[in-house]
Amino acid sequence: MTPQSDNILQLDNVEVVYDNVISALHDVSLSVPRGKVVALLGGNGAGKSTTLKAISTMLAAEHGKVTNGTIMYDGTPVTNQEPSHMVGLGLVQVLEGRRCFGHLTVEENIITGAYSRKLSKAEMRNELERMYGYFKRLRDRRTSQAGYTSGGEQQMIAVARAMMAKPKMLLLDEPSMGLAPQLVAEIFRIVQALNKEEGVSILLAEQNTNVALRNADYGYIIETGHVMLEGSAESLLNDDKVKELYLGISKEGRKNFRDVLREENKAHPDLHHH
Ligand code: ATP
Repeated sequence: MTPQSDNILQLDNVEVVYDNVISALHDVSLSVPRGKVVALLGGNGAGKSTTLKAISTMLAAEHGKVTNGTIMYDGTPVTNQEPSHMVGLGLVQVLEGRRCFGHLTVEENIITGAYSRKLSKAEMRNELERMYGYFKRLRDRRTSQAGYTSGGEQQMIAVARAMMAKPKMLLLDEPSMGLAPQLVAEIFRIVQALNKEEGVSILLAEQNTNVALRNADYGYIIETGHVMLEGSAESLLNDDKVKELYLGISKEGRKNFRDVLREENKAHPDLHHH
């Protein structure tokens, strides 16, 4: 028997084009080790959502396509597969902007995540209780109409619903978006717990570099469809370029990543980046 790869997910030189002409990813290579949390960082329009949708194979709905490179998930090539196929393989994406069914209750929303599993009533109750163990405030809100819950609660509903499919891997698109810092911290605490206790591997896209790196094992920074820098979360948090560009610790304000690298390459011609 061949040993399973240590990486649950691996992208090699992935290129994505929308509408046959708009090139969104140029050459993205990244991997997620089994059981780890990896952060995909970068500003608006960097290509984070596109990368996640390439993996969950949701690009076709937006007239996008992987035109080059390969995506391997759990030992099988999945490039340009059908999204329903991916859920069957245990990979679930939580889309940006949370998207609950507003007219359903919180609990009914969470239950929809288990549609592909044949659960008895008792099993369903068990699974719900397990989720409420993580998402404590959803238990109190379970009979409320989801459309009337707060942004933070809706984000929690979206993650809980995804977990009801019992995924091996979760893709999270900007879980912190639009939320107050306290709620962001709460959501990331839950994400950490799901990773540690349920063993789910996680790739999360975030503009909030600081909070993402504090909750991840490893990170990739992308800009205009290219991986600019990668490293352990700790090394990125301590990296001067990352501090200056993404953590707001800068005297001159935000610059472009390429400019900083260019300046640095002049100063240290032996440094290597992507
Ligand atoms: P954001 O945080 O704003 O979502 P992002 O890093 O997720 O940013 P993407 O949404 O992946 O970035 O966008 C990457 C590039 O692809 C951008 O130039 C964007 O304009 C383009 N793009 C994204 N979706 C589409 C689409 N459906 N059709 C055409 N171009 C698209």
